Amino acid sequence: MIGAGIIGLAHAWIAARSGHSVAVLERRPAALGASIANFGLLWPIGQPAGPMLQLALKSRGLWIEMLEEAGISSRQTGSLHIACRDDEQQVGMEFAALAPALGYQCSWLDRADALACSPALRPDNLLGALWSETEIMVDPREVLSRLAKYLAERYAVSFEWSCTALNIDSSRVSTTQGEWSASRILVCNGADVDLLYPELFADSGLIFCRLQMMRTPPQSANWNLGPALAGGLTFRFYPSFAACSSLAGLRSRIHRESPEYDHFGIHTMVSQTTAGELTLGDSHQYGLPVTPFNSDEIDRLILRHLDTYVRVPDGLSIRERWYGVYAKHPEKPYLRLQPADNVEIVTGLGGAGMTLSFGVAHETFHSTTIKELR
Ligand SMILES: Cc1cc2nc3c(=O)[nH]c(=O)nc-3n(C[C@H](O)[C@H](O)[C@H](O)COP(=O)(O)OP(=O)(O)OC[C@H]3O[C@@H](n4cnc5c(N)ncnc54)[C@H](O)[C@@H]3O)c2cc1C
Repeated sequence: MIGAGIIGLAHAWIAARSGHSVAVLERRPAALGASIANFGLLWPIGQPAGPMLQLALKSRGLWIEMLEEAGISSRQTGSLHIACRDDEQQVGMEFAALAPALGYQCSWLDRADALACSPALRPDNLLGALWSETEIMVDPREVLSRLAKYLAERYAVSFEWSCTALNIDSSRVSTTQGEWSASRILVCNGADVDLLYPELFADSGLIFCRLQMMRTPPQSANWNLGPALAGGLTFRFYPSFAACSSLAGLRSRIHRESPEYDHFGIHTMVSQTTAGELTLGDSHQYGLPVTPFNSDEIDRLILRHLDTYVRVPDGLSIRERWYGVYAKHPEKPYLRLQPADNVEIVTGLGGAGMTLSFGVAHETFHSTTIKELR
């Protein structure tokens, strides 16, 4: 396995528990890519109805199995999409009506029920919320480090940290720490796919997305966020909501009234870590050079939108700010490429890599067809 992000570790878990001998080569001293930069939200409600929703639900089941097996904590809280404007309410209600037939476990909550469901909502603008029971929060930094340790201890998976794969053929990997051989090589190198396979990357259609995130200090002792939160802007972000005819009205109102949210690809979500910190975000800048410079304007816009619906005991003071990067294909949910016999690349999971990771890894070992060949 090349890469100790969530896609590499999910593949390592599935391979190791099926009895394979597994080695993970990671170029950093720890997983430091997109997999620790995210919200830790397993978010089936964001996947479009049909095969992708089914894959997300399969992945959810495997996540729960892995978390229980490895003794890693999670919050199986479900989620709320908050409506503070009429058009947000329309989309939420329309989706709740369509949801059962499409395979989602959702319902519409009126204002009083939404307030009863979450201690974190401001009552003043609230109209109601779309409740979904399938979402789970994990603490990504905790999962990535604990899962690697668990795999090493329980399944004797060998981890080679600070070991960069430089060249791969069908059974050998040349690295900065010598040569490795394997009967099957899975390359799960996330947004670094352009470094190892520049020509494949150039033809792949993948683009990079840069996202800004923030985190509060832990909230007062034992205060619990309850369900993960998403604001009304999120309806225009996930493809699941494209099923709603009322979405066009919401999109054009936001474009007219707050074009800055479209310009920076902003929607807002809130999750909570094991220590009680709130993770807040995010923005999406696609296809631009990934600069190291965070924009204060973007952070302020995210906080401004959160302020319309979130109320937490210690306020949204910020302790950490960072940006993350992922690779994404404009149309495909992820890419599976085969650059050589016995070598597969799994990348381009965009903003759904945590959600889909274990489902995609399961597919790698249990599907006989490789979807896309060199
Ligand atoms: C800000 C942000 C928020 C997000 N929120 C969510 C969310 O809430 N829910 C969700 O489902 N998804 C979310 N995502 C998406 C998700 O984080 C990614 O899709 C996922 O983490 C990708 O995992 P990965 O293993 O492919 O990549 P990575 O985590 O980047 O791992 C790739 C690893 O490969 C290593 N590597 C690269 N090249 C080599 C080499 N040559 N040799 C050895 N090692 C190498 C890298 O060092 C890295 O550790 C978010 C992403 C971001 C950035």
